[in-house]
Amino acid sequence: MQSTNDLRRAFLGYFAAADHQVVPSAPLVPHNDPSLMFVNAGMVPFKNVFTGVETPPAPRATSSQKCVRAGGKHNDLDNVGYTARHLTFFEMLGNFSFGDYFKERAIELAWGMVTKELGLAKDRLSVTVYHTDDEAFDLWRKIAGLPEDRIIRIPTKDNFWAMGADGPCGPCSEIFWDHGPDVAGGPPGSPDEDGDRFVEIWNLVFMQHLQQADTITGDLPRPSIDTGMGLERLATVMQGVHNVFETDTFRTIVDASEDLVKSRIDDVSLPSHRVIADHLRSTSFLIADGVLPSNEGRGYVLRRIMRRAMRHAHLLGADKPLMHRLVPTLVSEMGQAYPELPRAQSLITEVLEREETRFRQTLEKGLRLLDEETGDLAEGDSLAGETAFKLYDTFGFPYDLTEDALRNRGIGVDRAGFDAAMAQQKAAARAAWKGSGAAADDEIWFDIAEREGATEFTGYSATEGEGKV
Ligand code: ATP
Ligand code: MG
Ligand code: MG
Ligand code: MG
Repeated sequence: MQSTNDLRRAFLGYFAAADHQVVPSAPLVPHNDPSLMFVNAGMVPFKNVFTGVETPPAPRATSSQKCVRAGGKHNDLDNVGYTARHLTFFEMLGNFSFGDYFKERAIELAWGMVTKELGLAKDRLSVTVYHTDDEAFDLWRKIAGLPEDRIIRIPTKDNFWAMGADGPCGPCSEIFWDHGPDVAGGPPGSPDEDGDRFVEIWNLVFMQHLQQADTITGDLPRPSIDTGMGLERLATVMQGVHNVFETDTFRTIVDASEDLVKSRIDDVSLPSHRVIADHLRSTSFLIADGVLPSNEGRGYVLRRIMRRAMRHAHLLGADKPLMHRLVPTLVSEMGQAYPELPRAQSLITEVLEREETRFRQTLEKGLRLLDEETGDLAEGDSLAGETAFKLYDTFGFPYDLTEDALRNRGIGVDRAGFDAAMAQQKAAARAAWKGSGAAADDEIWFDIAEREGATEFTGYSATEGEGKV
């Protein structure tokens, strides 16, 4: 079996041998983009290179980039533990051409990687192209020899990438793996494509046009390539399993979590163990990159993820803080590839323990209130927004934690009511603090932080969020 660590090395080695400079992962907090919460794709550190503002490190580069998708438009938080393919923290393997090779070579390299280097069976692979991209369609025919029914033309924005309303853009081509008929889900482009049978493993972006105000205005003089493959999804395929949480790294963390809480893994506890394993990774890597829990901006996203995991630990019956005791396992799995992890180990441990100790003081009371308030509710009902706000305000329950807590029972939360209660409290706080300045600024900052999704740069599929997921 190829371990996740082996696969990262194999990918980078393959592209290094094809003259790509190996570039280390950038930190999760973007240095060049205050509008973006966290790095959410391999190309983010190269944004200014693709727009021509910075000179490239080399004509071709390759990296394994740490990514977090837990806020803004690219928010996979609610998927984690429930789909077979989504994590809040993952590594994106990529190769980049900065005005060097283009479509043909990119397809050759990708196809060589999956079929020769990794030895994946051709008859379980299919690809998508943007519906008007005949060039990509023909190249897949020629290079991969795929039958026409496995080169699927997709008319939606899923297969058209843009950096924003203004800037480089172009069609994408995605490579899918068929996990087999035992897994539910249809091929890309079909009504049940969101199942886990056909899983997207690799996205190739062909940056070839320039757009202004969402309208293509011309072609780039030197088109570029940006690709992204999820390392954990690749490991899933290579290790012959169907779910990212069944790969080596996650099994080790889930086993450790099972040992510590002495809760046997069954259908009920498994999602909790998995949520904990995923959230342990995202929170630990965020702390290692300098984010600390707080009530605003990035720190609040971190807190939301932490507390959500902590509720699951409580659900499993952990009688004392759990997360920090899993840090040694994480460090032994990933510390060699990411030395910032062992370097920050004591800080990570301390922050997690302190947060969990604090949160446990109100968690139980909050859950009791939640039970009382939902005692009469049935599947399809919603919790009153005011109650969700009280849980937030008095017991430190982030909104999505409450939502997650009710999910199993099919009960929703009245978001509009929650927002209204929040707005009312802010108005009252502003009125009370009139003249003090500093606190009012804080509130405004918080407002902005809460709305960050609106302006966020969203990685590969800039317009994906609307309607999908
Ligand atoms: P999906 O449609 O499955 O949500 P995506 O189209 O949003 O994936 P991209 O933005 O194209 O994903 O990112 C490139 C690659 O990164 C994907 O092909 C996938 O392998 C991986 N990836 C994306 N999101 C996640 C995630 N939440 N967890 C793990 N891997 C991911
Ligand atoms: Mg997605
Ligand atoms: Mg996709
Ligand atoms: Mg994609």
